[in-house]
Amino acid sequence: MDQYQHLCRIAGKTWGINKNIRRLLYRTVIERPLCHGAAAWGHNMTSRLQKKLDSIQHLFLLYITGAYRTTPTAALQVITDLNPLHLQIQQEATYARVARARSSSNVFTVIFNPTDYESKSSGIHINPPNFLLHNQISFAENHRDSGAKAIYTDGSKMDEGTLSAYCIFENYGIIVSWQGKLDHSNSVFQAEILVIKMAIEAASFLHRPIKLWTGSLSSLMATILNPTMVWCERFQTLMLAQKHIHLRWLKAHVGYFGNECADELAKEVISESDPFFLPKPLSYLKSEIRSAALSIWQDNWDNRETGRSTHNIVPRVSLKLVGWNREELMFITGHGPFSSYLHSFNLRTHDNCSCGEKGDPIHYATKCRFTLSWHFQNSTVSLKLQWLKNILTNNLSRTRLRLLMRFICDESNLVVEHNN
Ligand SMILES: [Zn+2]
Repeated sequence: MDQYQHLCRIAGKTWGINKNIRRLLYRTVIERPLCHGAAAWGHNMTSRLQKKLDSIQHLFLLYITGAYRTTPTAALQVITDLNPLHLQIQQEATYARVARARSSSNVFTVIFNPTDYESKSSGIHINPPNFLLHNQISFAENHRDSGAKAIYTDGSKMDEGTLSAYCIFENYGIIVSWQGKLDHSNSVFQAEILVIKMAIEAASFLHRPIKLWTGSLSSLMATILNPTMVWCERFQTLMLAQKHIHLRWLKAHVGYFGNECADELAKEVISESDPFFLPKPLSYLKSEIRSAALSIWQDNWDNRETGRSTHNIVPRVSLKLVGWNREELMFITGHGPFSSYLHSFNLRTHDNCSCGEKGDPIHYATKCRFTLSWHFQNSTVSLKLQWLKNILTNNLSRTRLRLLMRFICDESNLVVEHNN
């Protein structure tokens, strides 16, 4: 493994380098390059390939955590909150197929259809300077109370869905208003774009100059001057056909009557109308793929045989850091300098501590006379799990556990009885 040695060199292989930095190094030096180009081969993953990837990842997980080599990969993945490598690759492959190659793909039983998601635009279709010359779009003009004649647009995201609204004012009264509802998967950004489009279409009959004020600078920038999504491209044609409509950016959001009206409308729940269909944003596709993969990871974690002692404490996989240090990890997994561990891997003929009792992690933490200074209060067997959880959620106990483990590591001759 070239990359492994490379990584060790970067990191100097000392414990001085922070665990989170080691984790980050893994993601950038190992995971990125492997996932890059995954679209080509990552989709049909044989179980043989999965095992191979697991064993590669295992090496790096040991490097990140400093755990014993025998610690189960599955437990290390959960503790470091790093996806199993094959799942990570499958996620990226699925995203690439759906978002870029525009073909349907699946993460196990969950199918993703490209027509549900917006597609990236192939490039700029109209030269932006032409637009600015026509003075149809300006980011600089200051808003004056133009209730006499103006359009205001707004978008918002509520529990009911993503909403948008516009009001057209003339002589200080609303002559046209509109509310639209999008699916909850749609973004506020999409709602802002939709409403600008709807407002332009509605104002096309006015045939005299009118300004459209939007509070969303990004929707002006990204879609009209540089449409990144295919469904935004139609805008440019629409705008060129409506030269009397001028788009303006409303910098200060609050206090303008017209804008407040649109704002109010965009927060009102409209139950009767059918939602507009807009393809979901690609960021949504990403999060859907991630959650599909997460549930597979969860399923595998629940139904395998290794790593059960870790599963007891961390039953749910997630992408947030569990944040155990090396000592805690040894204690929870039982893969550490304990007599019980050495015995289970046939490195000792018995599992006795030097004091004569069975030398498992709980023994050292509560009973062993050699580790008296770091003892925790005894726990009954039935409460062991809660006892462990309490230790891990209390900073003082965690420190004590770390000191205990350091002592056991340093004094392994004392606490582990050797074969005669
Ligand atoms: Zn003992």
